[in-house]
Amino acid sequence: MVPPAAWVRVVLDVPLPGPFDYRHVAPVEPGTRVIVPFGRRKLIGVVVDNPAEPGYEPSQIKDVEQVLDDLPPLSERWMRLARFAADYYQRPLGEVMLPALPGPLRKVSAYQGKRASGGPVARQARRKRTARDDAAADQPPTLNEAQQAAVDAIVGAPAFHAFLLHGVTGSGKTEVYLRAAEQVLARGRQVLMLVPEINLTPQFEAALRARLERVAGADGLAVLHSGLSEGERLQAWTRAVDGRARIVLGTRLAVFAPLEDLGLIVVDEEHDTSYKQQDGLRYSARDLAVWRGRDAAAAVVLGSATPALETWYHATRGHYTRLGLPTRARAASLPAVRLVDTRRLPMENGMSPQLLDGIADRLARGEQSLVFLNRRGYSPALHCASCGWVSQCTRCTAFTVLHRGSHGMHRLQCHHCGYQARVPRACPDCGDQDLKPMGRGTQRVEEYLAEKFPAARISRIDADSTRRKGSAQALFAQVHAGEVDILVGTQMVAKGHDFANLTLVGVLNADSMLFSQDFRAPERLFAQLMQVSGRAGRHGGQGEVLIQTGYPEQSVYQSLLRHDYEGFARHALAERESVGLPPYAFQALLSAEARELAQAIDFLQRARDEAENVLAEAGLPGGVTLYDPVPLRVVRVANVERAQLLLESASRPALLAFLRRWVGVLPALAADGRARWLLEVDPLEI
Ligand code: ADP
Ligand code: ZN
Ligand code: ZN
Repeated sequence: MVPPAAWVRVVLDVPLPGPFDYRHVAPVEPGTRVIVPFGRRKLIGVVVDNPAEPGYEPSQIKDVEQVLDDLPPLSERWMRLARFAADYYQRPLGEVMLPALPGPLRKVSAYQGKRASGGPVARQARRKRTARDDAAADQPPTLNEAQQAAVDAIVGAPAFHAFLLHGVTGSGKTEVYLRAAEQVLARGRQVLMLVPEINLTPQFEAALRARLERVAGADGLAVLHSGLSEGERLQAWTRAVDGRARIVLGTRLAVFAPLEDLGLIVVDEEHDTSYKQQDGLRYSARDLAVWRGRDAAAAVVLGSATPALETWYHATRGHYTRLGLPTRARAASLPAVRLVDTRRLPMENGMSPQLLDGIADRLARGEQSLVFLNRRGYSPALHCASCGWVSQCTRCTAFTVLHRGSHGMHRLQCHHCGYQARVPRACPDCGDQDLKPMGRGTQRVEEYLAEKFPAARISRIDADSTRRKGSAQALFAQVHAGEVDILVGTQMVAKGHDFANLTLVGVLNADSMLFSQDFRAPERLFAQLMQVSGRAGRHGGQGEVLIQTGYPEQSVYQSLLRHDYEGFARHALAERESVGLPPYAFQALLSAEARELAQAIDFLQRARDEAENVLAEAGLPGGVTLYDPVPLRVVRVANVERAQLLLESASRPALLAFLRRWVGVLPALAADGRARWLLEVDPLEI
């Protein structure tokens, strides 16, 4: 006898609009993972429905191969989050749900074949757990008035409520998060804490262990970020699913952690652009966190000294409640910021006499200095003085960067595609042997400082010096332990770190961000400089910041002198409002790439024509502004040429309604295979 069949609707991570229907002996609960045949492959998918009738001809429908029950089905709440993200960011549900799961939970090989042995969850349960040494429980400080008021407001929120914790650098925002988390945990609810950088997780993890283990339990903290092994991520995930984890700490991907009983979500340094995922589903973890807080009736705390203008705008409109921490927690004052006008100074290797004297003073006093330069490598290009040749990547429209290698050997490297080349002995164009580095990066600054201050202990922290797993943590530990006198670093050192003995910050090359095309460049520059300045004098003494610039009169720098975030924000928002830019408008960006720019532009032009039709049919003409397709600033990367089309609307619902219709016609326009496309909602870089 043929067993009774049920239809099972499944989403898969494939670049085809799903979902896909299968047959099974009985209905399968939504949220359950299943192994199904797909073409010639087998894939893991997630059940979303058991429809009464299948979406296509029953004879074409294949059977579910295996129902996975090693974890409970994904919850209704979690599925709601995934559905929202898929709908908002215009992606098929399967391309949202499956990438959000730890790798082993979506790999067929982990369940079938010789090595499967019961699946990854079962294997993990058999493995012995490794103890982490417990952190010493330190004495919590007494909160100051502003901190106490912030904690009271957060834990007093009756249901969903979004707060902007606007605290100057060193004001003790972490302490507010910890106290609020403690009370939320004590009520039996869970906490999600997001930080912008993997490098900041060890510092937070230690604090959470020391302070919250008592209320969260020894097994109560789970850490989730992309630097973990698949096994470690799986472990954190399963502990969140079964409720053992009471706090999840992580980077942007942790916003998808399966937490059923959230009472508090913290987004630290909420302005940070690393909350934006830059490939695949281009979500904003901060924005999803706010949605999640509303769905879970939880408090959401967005913390920053330099809130994103979008967030500030919400706070001024009363959508978010602003909680201010106007003074530093330990030090009497914010650092003194000085602009060093480089136009009239004899510079030594990019450094002014003031900065070099400042470093010498700190060395004599046994204090630390930080030299900040957002450019890694030895120098941004190699250059021939006699004919003007500049080292260029053969695959990108970009210079190749000179890097000093492990044995002092220099190499040329492309920061866009990774291409590497030897340094030519002579100019390829004119044969001149006198090739010179052009400009400077962190390696060259480090080299020069080592010559200038031979007795100083110098450490460089950037993406190159921290490539090995754990090396960033080791380098930061040296700084904290006082084993470093001068720290040279990129944006990696600008964020979040609480250096106790660092009293001088010098900023090189700030001007390189002044005249960018991107309308968000001033905002980013201001935030970055305020953050890096905030590393000086956090534990007392008078911190000092020297910003070298050829344009001291620029308003970004003038606001910075006065630590005037509010003035800066008011000015910048007025400008945005007058020209109708976010947060006064909503944007989407369609990018295309092809072998040749003309193909990418052609695709975008056809997409634009279709957009006009869609707008006319939907009765939305004028509701969405369509710009012209334009090439990207760096047009060619790895032999692929790129262009983009910007869309804008004063109404978010109008933009979304339009996108929902329009995204459906795009695959057909790209069917000739010449261009690949990607649609981004709320793009950060345009
Ligand atoms: P932020 O994140 O706001 O820049 P942190 O949370 O790193 O600042 O706090 C800065 C320093 O002040 C830390 O060393 C922290 O331990 C200390 N701190 C925080 N709150 C207090 C307080 N109420 N009393 C004394 N020290 C505090
Ligand atoms: Zn030459
Ligand atoms: Zn390249």
